[in-house]
Amino acid sequence: MSLPTTVDVIVIGSGITGAATAAAAAARGASVVLLDKEQGPAREGSGRAQGSLRVQGRHRAEFPLAREALELWTEAAAESDFELVTGGNLYFHTRHEELPLLSDLVIEAHRAGLTEVRLLDAAATRRIIPCATGPFLGAMWSPLDAQCRPDKGTEHYVRRAERAGARIAYGIKVTELLEAGGSITGVNTTDGPIRAGAVVVAAGVWTPYLVKTVGLDVPIMPVVMSELETDPVEPLFTQTIRAFGFGARQRPGGQVVVSAGLNAKVSHGVSLADFHGLRYWLPRAVAFRKNTKLRLDTKRILEQIRHRSTLDTALVPAISPEPPVDKPVVHTALSRLSTVIPRLRNAKISRYWGGVVDMTPDGLPVIDGHAGPKGLVVITGLSGHGFTLGPVLGEIAADLSLDGHTERSIESFRLSRFTDAPVGTPEMMI
Ligand SMILES: Cc1cc2nc3c(=O)[nH]c(=O)nc-3n(C[C@H](O)[C@H](O)[C@H](O)COP(=O)(O)OP(=O)(O)OC[C@H]3O[C@@H](n4cnc5c(N)ncnc54)[C@H](O)[C@@H]3O)c2cc1C
Repeated sequence: MSLPTTVDVIVIGSGITGAATAAAAAARGASVVLLDKEQGPAREGSGRAQGSLRVQGRHRAEFPLAREALELWTEAAAESDFELVTGGNLYFHTRHEELPLLSDLVIEAHRAGLTEVRLLDAAATRRIIPCATGPFLGAMWSPLDAQCRPDKGTEHYVRRAERAGARIAYGIKVTELLEAGGSITGVNTTDGPIRAGAVVVAAGVWTPYLVKTVGLDVPIMPVVMSELETDPVEPLFTQTIRAFGFGARQRPGGQVVVSAGLNAKVSHGVSLADFHGLRYWLPRAVAFRKNTKLRLDTKRILEQIRHRSTLDTALVPAISPEPPVDKPVVHTALSRLSTVIPRLRNAKISRYWGGVVDMTPDGLPVIDGHAGPKGLVVITGLSGHGFTLGPVLGEIAADLSLDGHTERSIESFRLSRFTDAPVGTPEMMI
């Protein structure tokens, strides 16, 4: 496809955030181009997510967005099949010391009006999930939550954008944001420039590189999370499961997707980029030192030395390499899940994959339409739980790029929070 020379809105990134943005902006009559450096949609975070559409267990500022997003996911599922199942969510606890955090999460959920969320003992939990015949103490139960296939869910929004008239172009890397007189004027790409009055950067872990071209600093730490999927087994549970050390969902076809759940272990390749914003990261690094495996990324360091920069867009790969999978972490997770659901003890593993998470120091997203030149909207830092929010992030990005403001409450997600006040550390790793 030849690229348009001028549009109303350029959207960078065809993950769920960018796809939903393109769909929402095009549906409101704007001319839109959606660009991605990869050869198809959802090749980075969005296609690699576990697919839990979790409403509860979030920071209070995220609750309204998560609730609205779930309604939007439910409406979208009436248009196409991306394996949406509304089966609720169970946070198991297997040790007494885990209970206080779950009790706090219930209080937070009730404050946000999610009165259905409650703590159950083991017997009441088994009435909801009879296959959980192994030992555990109880669970926090939310009947609201859902799950879906994340690559298909994202493709649904890409198709919706296309139907609404957006142009979609893959294999196009954006190399620079363009501004003049304090306003965004377009972007440079590997296929030439495009002009626009609004640019939405939904580029996941690569967002800091793009926004640096207009002088913005966004503190994102890329960390890798691992997943596995089993061969199909008989239908066992429809809930999404989250616990200290394991997380899971069973797809309608019987496959069980497993991750390390709450307080997952993640890996991070240390490079010169880590010197950026070290003061924001140190408190989090110390609090979660047991959850993070560090390795020296010498290849990246050599590239950074060659480019004499840690944030040049030349360092953004045209096609991202496959993230390294931490098999021991997901094997341990499956083994812990099998203790609670013994039927999974002999399940055969059919595939493994890793995905890179765009982590912020406080675990909250950056959603901002006023941080840089007029017309620039930045959405990133979804910190491992942003797939759920995608559809509402698209509506917000359309509000900000077309109207300059949104009625939704996004004050807690502004970029300037990192410089205005001391940065808080989240209670959970993911
Ligand atoms: C293993 C794993 C499990 C997860 N599980 C869940 C879950 O169960 N539930 C949940 O809610 N969340 C989950 N998440 C988090 C979720 O996947 C992300 O928060 C969400 O998908 C981020 O979407 P995004 O569209 O913002 O970014 P991405 O999906 O990462 O999309 C960014 C896109 O931008 C493109 N891009 C970047 N730079 C450029 C450039 N210069 N030019 C052109 N294109 C560019 C990339 O190619 C990419 O396609 C998980 C994440 C991982 C890694």
